[in-house]
Amino acid sequence: MAEKRDYYEVLGVSRSATDDELKRAYRKLAKKYHPDTNPGDKNAEAKFKEASEAYAILSDPDKRRQYDQFGHAAFDQTGGAGFTDFDMRDIFGEFFGGDIFGDLFGSRSRRANTGPRQGANIRTSVRITFNEAVFGTEKELDLNLKDECSTCHGTGAKQGTSPETCQKCGGKGQVIYTQQTLFGMSQNIQTCPDCRGAGKIIKEKCSDCYGSGYITTRKKIQVVIPAGIDNGQSVRIRGKGEPGINGGPRGDLLVDIEVSRHPIFQRRDYDIYSTAPISYATAVLGGDVRISTVDGDVIYTVKPGTQTDTKVRLREKGVPTLRNKNIRGDHYVTLVVQVPTNLTAEQKELLRKFDEAMKGNNPDSFDNQENSKSKRKFWK
Ligand SMILES: [Zn+2]
Ligand SMILES: [Zn+2]
Repeated sequence: MAEKRDYYEVLGVSRSATDDELKRAYRKLAKKYHPDTNPGDKNAEAKFKEASEAYAILSDPDKRRQYDQFGHAAFDQTGGAGFTDFDMRDIFGEFFGGDIFGDLFGSRSRRANTGPRQGANIRTSVRITFNEAVFGTEKELDLNLKDECSTCHGTGAKQGTSPETCQKCGGKGQVIYTQQTLFGMSQNIQTCPDCRGAGKIIKEKCSDCYGSGYITTRKKIQVVIPAGIDNGQSVRIRGKGEPGINGGPRGDLLVDIEVSRHPIFQRRDYDIYSTAPISYATAVLGGDVRISTVDGDVIYTVKPGTQTDTKVRLREKGVPTLRNKNIRGDHYVTLVVQVPTNLTAEQKELLRKFDEAMKGNNPDSFDNQENSKSKRKFWK
């Protein structure tokens, strides 16, 4: 087995990376190498697992400490990689709202046999607003779903007949080809061409499903989207995928969430960012400003002498976390002092008077500095 890569190297972060940096790095990699976006790509799958393992360890403060001290050896004696399937599901749930680790890490490995098998997962997507993502929502999806044909009970065989065991593969669904090559005999296992892996042959097809064993119908499915979900995450609805094979359970429906942009709010993780205008007078004198949040407008009292680009934190006005909707991020507001335009002659005159009055009592003004006369001449 190849030497294990350093977890920090895997995620492409420094050893002093913050939790946030780790999370961002992992999310990027997980998206890039996600098996659903790279079907059949073994290299991507390996990269995905590697990144997930690195993140599972480094995102846990205790495990990260152990890893920093002992390296990979810290987890060797605990058997395997030192992380459990459970950790992985947990992490995956946080990012994608579902888990595919069952498929990836072998607990639901697909064997080419004719025993009960879980049906394939179906993927779809739904677009929601920024606020729906913040507070959660429910959507109704219109989907074409396969169901077992009630006439033939999924066998695909005409009523009164039943599928026969495939002669070619003896019902195994696979055939082994032995080939003479330059390097000796080689054996290739292939899906049986006669029964296409089913192990059974239908002589007379069911007329309702044309031998497929399935009937497709349009169905309405309710999907509950939890508060705190972010763009690119997905919600898993168990048992709404393709029907199982040979009595296996149905696959799952994975709903990718696309969140529309908000005109004034931006989101990063569970925090919200926005800017709010304040008038020059309010900035100077202090006063109340109205700030929009996802909970509605709040009144914030600005201190006298507030500079432009002052950042204000509105605690717990951010996005609820997926794990606990009572725990919320913060809302950071950048106050931007507005420079008035289109002034009336009277307003301009007042401003000139104000400017004049400022001269001589503003310690920062260069009129108070030495050589003020020459400077003033220069600027006028
Ligand atoms: Zn049928
Ligand atoms: Zn066969």
